[in-house]
Amino acid sequence: MSKLHIPKPFSAGIFLTYKCTGECRHCMYACSPKWRSDWIDLKGAEEIIEFLSRSFTEYYPKDFSQVGVNVGLHFTGGEPFLNFDLLLSLVEVANNYDVPSIFVETNCFWCINDSVVEEKLLKLRRAGLDGILISANPFVVEHVPFERIERAVRISRRIFGRNTMIYQENFYNQLKSINLSGTLPFESYLSIMREKDPIGLYFGLSYPSMLLMGRLPFRLGHLYERFPAKMFFSGSCLEELTRNWHVHIDNYYNYVTGYCAGITLGDARKLEILCQDGIDLDEYPVVGRLVASDGIKRLFTYASEEYGYRERGDGYISKCHLCLDIRRHIVEHDSGLRELKPKEFYEHL
Ligand code: SF4
Ligand code: SF4
Repeated sequence: MSKLHIPKPFSAGIFLTYKCTGECRHCMYACSPKWRSDWIDLKGAEEIIEFLSRSFTEYYPKDFSQVGVNVGLHFTGGEPFLNFDLLLSLVEVANNYDVPSIFVETNCFWCINDSVVEEKLLKLRRAGLDGILISANPFVVEHVPFERIERAVRISRRIFGRNTMIYQENFYNQLKSINLSGTLPFESYLSIMREKDPIGLYFGLSYPSMLLMGRLPFRLGHLYERFPAKMFFSGSCLEELTRNWHVHIDNYYNYVTGYCAGITLGDARKLEILCQDGIDLDEYPVVGRLVASDGIKRLFTYASEEYGYRERGDGYISKCHLCLDIRRHIVEHDSGLRELKPKEFYEHL
């Protein structure tokens, strides 16, 4: 029997829900308004927060409150502000357990005027929130007017100071530079940027932070070079799947590492035991293959032999594209695998 060791988390995000106000073409977690209105249960979340606070004490000095994308605990989704009361309660719980660096991530759909933004952010601040991460990119402004994002940035800077993060700042500055007001279809964004920057010095979708995984390969794959499956056969995902930073726990308690949405290492309410004992790879046929040195090849062979998977004629833009296309095929044929959850993730890509 071979075991996979799972390290204690250094930083984590808790999903309130997969439901979102929009359906960004690049969303790694395939969030959208079409998801069921399921929310994390406060009691289950508290069990997880209690363990995270103990895990974090091994890494952070007391009263550490400086935020960073890969630091501390964040509340995310989906869109956390769709359920403000739950968000507020979660922040209070995390603060009661002295969790360091608590921040929330938002697309700013709710930032319709200054007083609404001030009121909500001050309530969260008083409850113990240390900072905020504001999403800004060409996909979110397809459904959120840009002035709401600017308003959130302006007021957050006043309330949270340097604990205001914009993800991604380069996109934010780019959208400011065109004096965007309202929303902008992605195709218009592309034409504007191509006109401003015909040789692509400034514009580019290949920033290191654009991760070619999740929904992106299926909705934006036409913008990237594509390769046959064998180009990705030599990769292993051991590092990603055993990463201890920026792990996620979704609202169904799935423990998700390495941004590998749709793969769960187990029930996060039992995270302490998972981190103590690891997981038995005989019970995880997909993860067991992915962590091998030729993990993607093994997954491809497994899916071809067991589930009749066939290589896409138009190729793949990344190893994660191939992995996800295979996993989606497996889930369509066998929804019983404990490691491929939630099933709805594969339906909303
Ligand atoms: S706003 Fe965020 S959570 Fe919502 S669809 Fe876009 S990337 Fe996903
Ligand atoms: S190939 Fe699959 S398991 Fe590996 S990093 Fe990408 S999504 Fe995760």
